[in-house]
Amino acid sequence: SNIVAIVGRPNVGKSTLYNRLTETRKAIVDDFSGVTRDRHYGIAEWVGRSFTVIDTGGYVANSEDVFETAIREQVVIAIEEATVILFMVDVTTGITDLDDEIATLLRKGKKPVFIVVNKVDNHALQSDATLFYSLGLGEIYNISSMTGSGTGELLDEMIKCFDDEPAEENTLPKYAIVGRPNVGKSSIINALIGQERNIVTPIAGTTRDSIHIHYNRYGHEFMLIDTAGLRKKTKVKENIEFYSVMRTIKALEEADIIILMIDAVEGLESQDINIFHLAEKNKKGIVLVVNKWDLIEKNSKTVKVFEEQIMEKIAPFTDVPIVFTSVLEKQRLLKVIETAEQVYENRSKKISTSRLNDIMLPIIENYPPPALKGKHVKIKYITQINGNAPMFAFFCNLPQYIKEPYKRFIENKLRENFNFSGVPIQIFFRQK
Ligand code: GDP
Repeated sequence: SNIVAIVGRPNVGKSTLYNRLTETRKAIVDDFSGVTRDRHYGIAEWVGRSFTVIDTGGYVANSEDVFETAIREQVVIAIEEATVILFMVDVTTGITDLDDEIATLLRKGKKPVFIVVNKVDNHALQSDATLFYSLGLGEIYNISSMTGSGTGELLDEMIKCFDDEPAEENTLPKYAIVGRPNVGKSSIINALIGQERNIVTPIAGTTRDSIHIHYNRYGHEFMLIDTAGLRKKTKVKENIEFYSVMRTIKALEEADIIILMIDAVEGLESQDINIFHLAEKNKKGIVLVVNKWDLIEKNSKTVKVFEEQIMEKIAPFTDVPIVFTSVLEKQRLLKVIETAEQVYENRSKKISTSRLNDIMLPIIENYPPPALKGKHVKIKYITQINGNAPMFAFFCNLPQYIKEPYKRFIENKLRENFNFSGVPIQIFFRQK
């Protein structure tokens, strides 16, 4: 799992670069310092290697006094957690005190650093940019994150520093318990493994701080990935969040199933939704756990109302199991495990081509794809493609004529007829 952290002081253009890399363009880019941004991390790809990008700017607190501390701490966290650090500076301002401070921290760290000189929009500025060699961090990369010039060269060099994909350690299912600080992750892990927490063995090949716990009890055997076990001392609240996000992303890439825990009182917040979408994009199985259910005043409709509120926020992928727990009162903890196991089974399942066609072809015959420009799309047969997560190929005469609503219809029918609860599925239409 490769994580690229973009560090630098405010207004150097971190989120513009982030947007360019992830192409979400959803982050708010503007000229105000400390604006709370909606998205902080996303998936990017360069020559077939996918990686996670973190825009550290999104985590910086608004208030002036914690501002610089926050940035410094983020650099420290980035040095610990990221594979590669992009240190962004601004050619139009030269080297500021904060740039110098960040450079000092980066020189002490052992991680590869790329100095990204931003706003080099013309030839004249290129010679100004050479000033940044004096930061003592090696090669500089001139870019204009507005126009995108220079980013290709940067990324070519950057991916040379990536870790190779780790070899599979074992074949046991891996469940990661993730969620914001204080939702109850440590508590549930303690409740599940009790005194045996000290048998925890960090597994070779994974980072020292990603804890894998071998669970083997009552007929259930799996690896738990614990993101709560180690905590970071920090005075800045935003950095606790930042640290937890870095951890979560790592765990997410290692796991098969993501157990996303939320606090019943606080509900599903934007950070949770971001994690959810990241899991979905990574084709991981997902179980939602609403913890501290003991704190909610309930009537016969409460569960349904909660479920509906959650569905609305995670749409369109809503076929996800939700378990309401109280770790405090030991309510439904085993149910969490059983649900994760069910999702794991759903994600690993292979449906035979004959069963798939027997069930899906009559449905398609009843509701064929709408004709386009007088041409009729005929789906001939369907097959499941081998892979880690469910993928289906629908062979037809005119795949390019099939639009999103029909694809969604097909997905719903697959979900109705075969249990894919908690599992993102991919559907491809291919030329017969
Ligand atoms: P983590 O940061 O996600 O690991 O959260 P912790 O496990 O440390 O829990 C944070 C706080 O929430 C602690 O004070 C727990 O005792 C409390 N807590 C955890 N689960 C529950 C629960 O089901 N109900 C209630 N009322 N409190 C809980």
